[in-house]
Amino acid sequence: MLKRLEIAGFKSFARKTVLDFSSATTAVVGPNGSGKSNIAEAFRFALGEQSMKSMRGKRSEDLIFSGSHSSARANRAAVTIVFDNMPRVRPGHHASNATDATRTFPKLDFDEVSIERAVFRDGTSEYLVNGAKVRLRDVQELLASANIGESGHHIISQGEADRILLAHPRERRAMLEDALGLKAFEFKKLDAERKLEKTDANMREVESLRREIAPHIRFLKKQVERLERAASLVQELALACQTYFGIEELYLSTEKERATKERAQATERLTAAAAQLTAFDERNTNDVEGMKHAERIRVAERELDRVMQERSVLSRELGRVEGALEGAKKRTVAVAHDPYIKIPRDELEILCTEVENQSQVIEGTNPEAIKAALTSLRALVRVFFERFGTPNDDYLADEESLVHSLESEREGMLAKDTQLAESTDTNRKALMRAREASMAYDETGREERHRVLELAEVKAREESAVVRLDGRLRELSMMSEELERERAEALALAGSAALSYAPLTQLPQEERRVQEDRKRGVERLKIRVEEAGGGGEDVKKEYEDAVARETFLARELEDLAKSSAGLRELISDLDTELTTTFTEGLARVNASFGEFFALMFGGGGAKLVLEELPVGGRGRSEEEDEELGGEADDLPVAKAGKAGIEISVNLPKKRVQALMQLSGGERALTSIALIFAMSQVNPPPFLILDETDAALDEANSRRYGDMIEELAKKSQLIVISHNRETMSRAGILYGVTMGSDGISKLLSIKFDEAVAVAK
Ligand code: ATP
Repeated sequence: MLKRLEIAGFKSFARKTVLDFSSATTAVVGPNGSGKSNIAEAFRFALGEQSMKSMRGKRSEDLIFSGSHSSARANRAAVTIVFDNMPRVRPGHHASNATDATRTFPKLDFDEVSIERAVFRDGTSEYLVNGAKVRLRDVQELLASANIGESGHHIISQGEADRILLAHPRERRAMLEDALGLKAFEFKKLDAERKLEKTDANMREVESLRREIAPHIRFLKKQVERLERAASLVQELALACQTYFGIEELYLSTEKERATKERAQATERLTAAAAQLTAFDERNTNDVEGMKHAERIRVAERELDRVMQERSVLSRELGRVEGALEGAKKRTVAVAHDPYIKIPRDELEILCTEVENQSQVIEGTNPEAIKAALTSLRALVRVFFERFGTPNDDYLADEESLVHSLESEREGMLAKDTQLAESTDTNRKALMRAREASMAYDETGREERHRVLELAEVKAREESAVVRLDGRLRELSMMSEELERERAEALALAGSAALSYAPLTQLPQEERRVQEDRKRGVERLKIRVEEAGGGGEDVKKEYEDAVARETFLARELEDLAKSSAGLRELISDLDTELTTTFTEGLARVNASFGEFFALMFGGGGAKLVLEELPVGGRGRSEEEDEELGGEADDLPVAKAGKAGIEISVNLPKKRVQALMQLSGGERALTSIALIFAMSQVNPPPFLILDETDAALDEANSRRYGDMIEELAKKSQLIVISHNRETMSRAGILYGVTMGSDGISKLLSIKFDEAVAVAK
């Protein structure tokens, strides 16, 4: 419900002017050109009118007070419409409780709503709702929610009453739709369509994003799979390492311990053998016993030699003695018979031989033997001479005494020989004993040598064992070093897991070859892990992010699809609602139109008829598009494919059917009937009628007045009029005057004054 209008700087209203609308019908009266129509235009302006033409201007500057010879021009034109927005029970409802009550602007929880628009000389415009800046669109939606459309069916300008009659069917339909309050639905629909468009665009965008990232995700996935394979290889390596290291460690420590122990034992045996050998060596170099034996043998041999030598000399001596004795015996016999000495040859030969023999002895070294030989030679020569040189008598006697002495000598020599034979025997036995003793001693030596050999063998064996074990220990320590290297490598490649294992207490029952295979396996795995490449935390993160983004996009797409479907449904619901509301509204307007028409014309009839749509034709021509202009783009307009509305009239007692054939008064009456009918069906909060009654005669003016009263029950009326009858129906009368300063002034007046002013 209108409360008041405040005008400042708008057209001829240079100063702030306030119109209160406390009555159902307010009439504005005044002389021509005083600024009455400017008031109606002030309404249009404040409600967001975009057409300058409908406000009788070319530029927005034309709306600002342009000044006069006595007043400066204004810089700003501002109009504020103030509505009462108290909750009200709508006609036809019973005020049973407060919740049934609704506000004119249901969306605004204020008891008073002011809509202000201002323009500046630079052409800029601003809109304010309750003092807060808003967009034109917000004002339009707000007005639509209160069934105040912008197409002006509720503001009928001067001379424009029959505009609806002259309008194109499509435009007419727009006016009707506006009057039926379809604007609110249209706005909703437009809103939904825009959202749908945006949603569809978003969907396309999301889809293209998904398509864009899909190959990247595939690539990352492959990377991640590769990394996972690498990770499982690492795990495999860690497990293999645990087994291998566990066994290897125990193996090495066991082997080391064993080798060390064996080496110690071998060393011990070696030391013992060496010590024993040394002892033998020492004994061998100082073989006193052996030497004693040898000496004893040597002494025995020398003694035996000497005795045998002595006997041999004795034997030869005995032989000579015996020979001499024989000769002497023979000579004794011969000498006694012959004075000549006859020396037998053989005697000479014997002598010779004997001398030779003894000479040989003399040539020897044994002094005793030489002595003995010489003695023997002297005796030999003497005996020879005595035997053959002495005279017979003497000789004989001599010979006989020689025989005696030789015989006794022989006796002595034989005794000596017996003695020497005994001595030889004794000495031989002694030598035998010495030899036997030595041999016995030598026998014990052989056993020792055997033992030494054995010891030497042991020594050699243990020495090589020590060498071998040292080699083994070196090998083991190299293996330990290698194991350390392997552990470091495994740590680097497979992390601490590779070294996380409980130490083994027992080696598996297997050949060493198995562990070597294990080692090779670990090496192979290491190579594979190295080839698989490490790192990748960022790739994984990137992949997760990409997947999360993809999931997000998929969800978003789903959400968008849902809201798209929801919007389509809303649009189709709105279409249905628009159609039903329109169809029902059209029927009700028609009923009312017929009634008002019959009332105005005292009979006859009129109705709105939907145009026949050409099959397959588009609803709106290009020229029409142009006519609507750029400004209309932002607003819901009749869409293509909608049938326009024709008016069919049936005047009483006349056979006129074409609108063009009606008189000016008849046209005014018809359009008034239609405007009123439309207002009846969906009453706007207010209706401004600028000299709609100008063409009416007295009788029709009265009917018009009656209709106004009827209409004022549902909508607030502001009538600009020169008509006495109309004035008489108003509760409040404002007079507008314009002085020589060109500024419109407003004054509250009485009916009588108004009649005077209007003239
Ligand atoms: P009628 O009864 O003849 O229809 P009216 O009372 O409706 O007349 P308007 O048409 O409202 O009169 O007033 C027009 C007056 O407003 C003119 O005098 C015009 O000079 C004046 N006017 C229009 N625009 C401006 C403006 N921008 N600045 C000052 N005065 C203006």
